[in-house]
Amino acid sequence: MMEETLKEIRNQIDSDLEGVSTEADLVRVKAGYVGKKGSLTQLLKSMKDLPKEERRQAGILINATKNEIEELIEKRSDEIKRKIMDEKLLEEATDFTLPGRGMPVGAKHPITQVMERIVYDFERMGFEVAEGPEVELDYYNFEALNIPKNHPARDMQDTFYITDDMVLRTHTSPVQIRIMQTQQPPVKIIAPGKVYRCDSDVSHTPMFHQIEGLLVDKGITFGNLKSVIIQFVKLTFGEGTNVRFRPSFFPFTEPSAEVDIECQICSNGCRVCKGTGWLEIMGCGMVDPAVFSSVNYNTDIYSGFAFGMGVERIAMLKYGINDIRLFFENDVRFLRQFV
Ligand SMILES: [Zn+2]
Repeated sequence: MMEETLKEIRNQIDSDLEGVSTEADLVRVKAGYVGKKGSLTQLLKSMKDLPKEERRQAGILINATKNEIEELIEKRSDEIKRKIMDEKLLEEATDFTLPGRGMPVGAKHPITQVMERIVYDFERMGFEVAEGPEVELDYYNFEALNIPKNHPARDMQDTFYITDDMVLRTHTSPVQIRIMQTQQPPVKIIAPGKVYRCDSDVSHTPMFHQIEGLLVDKGITFGNLKSVIIQFVKLTFGEGTNVRFRPSFFPFTEPSAEVDIECQICSNGCRVCKGTGWLEIMGCGMVDPAVFSSVNYNTDIYSGFAFGMGVERIAMLKYGINDIRLFFENDVRFLRQFV
């Protein structure tokens, strides 16, 4: 009789545990067996009604079943805990197959891009980069470059003076003097950098960028200058761009020329080229003997040429931009077009 009941209880536990999915359910199931009113507890209580000689045997059987059931419940409890943990981990897991969020990538300023490109092209022609200070002595900015005291370029309107003999350099040409003072020919340099002039309108800003070139060696002629400039124009504006050299004047070169390229916008005259069909891109010339004498170069042996251009001007012509100030307003809608 007792064995039959225990067998039923034992059989019942498996299907009871089968349907349990939470700890709370498990507690309830457990109470049904070993709680105050549990079937096994009841059975233990009923032992006192058994004949004395059967009690011991019944106690052993009941306790064995009780232990077995408690073990099964414990095992089921572990399974439920593990299942809950697995589900939680799965829920919180990172999906490495999802596309990344992406970092916003910055880009170089269009002026920096154009300047680096020009410098790179001249480097390929064998020029070396040289640099000089932006706060410059009057001597290097003017005097040594054959710009006398009464020259209009020294006018207070154009030049930012720091002291009487110190200025914010108005061009990159003083780099020429600094290099030639420390080095004998051959000299073949390209000097990119910031320059300053007291001026502001659609084609002038108080700070802008220039690239200066200087080549000094034995037997250098205007023909060498032309070939370097034509090569530069082809690399910057395209193979078929026509170039012309127009006689001009600069204190530090003789003879001097301004370089024009065909208007990139029109074929027979427009507002940008003022109806001429040509656009001025730089100044150049053969280094004036007066400049060479200020650095003690022997003009019987050496000759050379120099050229200088505004990077903003080149960029404006290259990209068809009509207002130089756009480069310095930091409007990302403008700047993004050059990424
Ligand atoms: Zn034009």
